Amino acid sequence: MYKGVYGRKDRLVQQKRHDVYRNGRKPPEPTICPDCSAVFSGGRWAWVDDAVDAVNETRCPACQRIADNLPAGIIEVLGSFFDDHREEVIGLIKNTESLEKGEHPLERIIRIEEQDHGLEITTTGVHVARRIGDALSRSYHGDLAFTYGDAEKTIQVTWVRNDS
Ligand SMILES: [Zn+2]
Repeated sequence: MYKGVYGRKDRLVQQKRHDVYRNGRKPPEPTICPDCSAVFSGGRWAWVDDAVDAVNETRCPACQRIADNLPAGIIEVLGSFFDDHREEVIGLIKNTESLEKGEHPLERIIRIEEQDHGLEITTTGVHVARRIGDALSRSYHGDLAFTYGDAEKTIQVTWVRNDS
């Protein structure tokens, strides 16, 4: 069922009460996220190869967004091109996320949802959403539009291609 622009807007508006995601108080160092094992050290969240003696546990901002189901980015993939190239398009989206997430733990896909009118992808960060939009546009052309909100802490990306 298409939720329409209103549901989406409500979700984005709520962000203002959730400054915890990026601007909240910094956790002590090192802190490990119990959900994804990212480590906060040197003022940032990062993936670490070695085991860390982190006595502090706090959810990282990305896992907090996932737990709250409060995405920073929403991407809509629309048009008949998607219907004819589903697996390929979803593959590109997942690969793009992997590259971004590998460098930046806070930039992840929350959910990829197939809907009547196409695909809705929600993300924990604005950069991965923008990067996915750019990748779709670069690979398949079509029409790409994005709108930032809430002092660039949220983004709405729409990509449409109607021929097949
Ligand atoms: Zn986490």
